[in-house]
Amino acid sequence: MSRDSLLEDFMHEVELRNPGETEFLQAVRHVARDTITIEKAHADYAQARVLARLAKPDRMVEFRVTWQDDNHEIRVNRGWRVQHSNAIGPYKGGLRFHPALTPSVLKFLAFEQTFKNALTGLPLGGGKGGSDFDPRGRSDAEIMRFCQAFMLQLAPFIGPNRDVPAGDINVGTREIGWLFAAYKSQAHEFSGVLTGKGRSFGGSAVRVEATGWGLVYFTEAMLAERGEEIAGKRIAISGKGNVATHAAEKAIACGARVVTLSDTAGTLVAPDGLTLDDVAWVRACKQAGADITDPPGSCNATFHEGASPWEQEVDIALPCATQNELDGEMAQALVDGGARILAEGANMPLTDEALEIVAKGGITRAPGKASNAGGVAVSGLEMSQNSRRRFASPQEVDDDLREIMETIHARVSREGREGGRIDYSRGANIAGFRKVADAIAAMGAI
Ligand code: NDP
Repeated sequence: MSRDSLLEDFMHEVELRNPGETEFLQAVRHVARDTITIEKAHADYAQARVLARLAKPDRMVEFRVTWQDDNHEIRVNRGWRVQHSNAIGPYKGGLRFHPALTPSVLKFLAFEQTFKNALTGLPLGGGKGGSDFDPRGRSDAEIMRFCQAFMLQLAPFIGPNRDVPAGDINVGTREIGWLFAAYKSQAHEFSGVLTGKGRSFGGSAVRVEATGWGLVYFTEAMLAERGEEIAGKRIAISGKGNVATHAAEKAIACGARVVTLSDTAGTLVAPDGLTLDDVAWVRACKQAGADITDPPGSCNATFHEGASPWEQEVDIALPCATQNELDGEMAQALVDGGARILAEGANMPLTDEALEIVAKGGITRAPGKASNAGGVAVSGLEMSQNSRRRFASPQEVDDDLREIMETIHARVSREGREGGRIDYSRGANIAGFRKVADAIAAMGAI
């Protein structure tokens, strides 16, 4: 049977069981396309039916979150935790608060997380969770009460050896602090149940910066493979959140010109490159919930309402906003603008059409499960530090982060090398799959 027939048979079953779950089906298809013949060729994997098992999360809990707003009105939101696979370690993955969050998005994120975590080389399973709560326009007190109400429901399902959530979109260090305190009060224990904690209560140095910095380290490894370096390269970045601003900061520090950051309203364009002060201003706006439409006089960028970052002529693109943010038209603009490397800071930021155009246009693309693994890698280091109750210095963690990103690059390159080029997506899928599949196959039918 050909790979395509195997894939279509497999996906037919998955589609029947997950009707309409577009993002989840998209992510499963990408991984299955690269690994289905590997499973077939490997008797242990085939017998264990690894892919069929991974196409279904271990479990998914859904709960109601009831909280009170500042006007004493009762508000009701939905909360979820998807525990995808604990084959190689406790479930691990972020919490997202976003009004557009759906079970399909969470299932796709948890599925991707399992392979990403395997690539880090650390003993971490995969999970993801969150709520359709929208923090925009909410007071600090309301967000805190929401976090407490959310944890009241989530606490029975997590634990330091069971499931260790972290932050994601709209869940930063502040929210993790509130979530951690709520867990601590309920469980009557102080443990490393969440990562991304403040440094004063068990957080790791460099956790906040890790995804963005790690993305730049991975990009540097991609460039080194071609005998190039990042200094002097023009880079477009989307998003203005944690990943985007830390990637921008690190790229600028390495001598690159970061010409864009963006949000849902439009794009900040700096043809000569943003400065570290400009990035700090963007970060302060994001933290204050303010928009970036009106940069201060000292900023050498202008805001273009409704524009995308991908219309600029750049060498490198780093999409760092959200899933499916970059469509076919934007991908064509990137190709036409001369981009040669794209490394994903966000999870699955390209639509299927964009993936095709980028590949045909000769852009080398690193998938998020490899290039944005720095955040979860430092979360893994935070778990180790919590267990041994000793903390590493910022320099030590940064050195470990760089080493982990370079090791992921080497692993992915080994599996993805085809003639003179590297298919990073295929390499990441195969390397992550093998690690998880070995564990699943060794554990029998359970
Ligand atoms: P943040 O909440 O800090 O920032 C996300 C930003 O993206 C927001 O400012 C939002 O703008 C902007 N945005 C959303 N949609 C679009 C769009 N279509 N076009 C342009 N901008 C948009 O999130 P993070 O930085 O933490 O996460 C970003 C991505 O990285 C997500 O895919 C996440 O899953 C992934 N990731 C995050 C990790 C982490 O450690 N934080 C780890 C690994 C992956 P607005 O303000 O207008 O809403």
